Amino acid sequence: MRAARDRPADGFRARRRFGQHFLHEGALIERIVAAVDPRPDQAIVEIGPGRGALTLPLLRLCGELTAIEIDHDLCEHLRRAALGAGTLHLVNEDVLSVDFATLAGGPRRLRIVGNLPYNISTPLLFRILGQLRHVEDVHCTLQREVAQRIGAAPGSKHYGRLSVMVQLDCRVEGLFPIAAAAFRPRPQVESAFLRLVPRPEVSVAPEERAAFSELVRHLFSRRRKTLKSALRGHMGEEHIVQAGCEPASRPQELSVADFARLAAQWSECRHVRSSRESASAPAAPRD
Ligand code: SAM
Repeated sequence: MRAARDRPADGFRARRRFGQHFLHEGALIERIVAAVDPRPDQAIVEIGPGRGALTLPLLRLCGELTAIEIDHDLCEHLRRAALGAGTLHLVNEDVLSVDFATLAGGPRRLRIVGNLPYNISTPLLFRILGQLRHVEDVHCTLQREVAQRIGAAPGSKHYGRLSVMVQLDCRVEGLFPIAAAAFRPRPQVESAFLRLVPRPEVSVAPEERAAFSELVRHLFSRRRKTLKSALRGHMGEEHIVQAGCEPASRPQELSVADFARLAAQWSECRHVRSSRESASAPAAPRD
């Protein structure tokens, strides 16, 4: 029974461990490809091409693309299917181990497209965020709840660590919903199609990134507390006020800019604490 459900019309058996759900509606595929709007001179990278639902129309429009697919059998199928459509560079690897800098290999930044495997979508997004200097934009299909979290505004129940970490570096555009019925086999969840565009300006300096990420994680694991209480032992009320925030407010009310200013105070206070600790530590005995 299960095998039949996992088998699309042409007999290919979808592998659940790779999150395989294949798009099959022509109108939807056209809508996705139109939103990407691929051009021949661009460096397009598709993550998880599957049986080529997006790959082949993209390839016909841009003439050349790189696709990263973990499933060896699908790679064989795609190589044959792409003959005559354009130049397809297939990378048969786990995308979580692919170095996007090597893929870019020049001045062109990557346009990343993917109907992403849901089981790895969050680690994959963080991996892409870590290599954004090589990325022009990202168009991706995600589980609806993940898409809602990414695009959520402060105060919304969906707003959290993922929203802040993505919005720090990217403008997020929710493009359209995708129903579960658009896939074979049909997933248990609804989906949404998103565009992420890296921001040209750097709002947190590279050396402050670790503190920013640590603070965001710290606060969202205490999201019901006030800032004053959640930050006790790390910074005083006066530092919260200096960051332009209200000590009685709660983490989910803060904007990305608020987090950035608080992170600067967080690392400043830590620096002061560690200088005090080393000044008060007993001197090492002399020989
Ligand atoms: N793009 C196709 C479509 O829209 O019909 C397939 C999408 S399917 C949801 C996800 C695809 O990602 C599958 O082909 C799967 O084998 C591939 N995949 C899953 N995990 C992967 C990984 N870690 N690295 C690369 N590809 C992966």
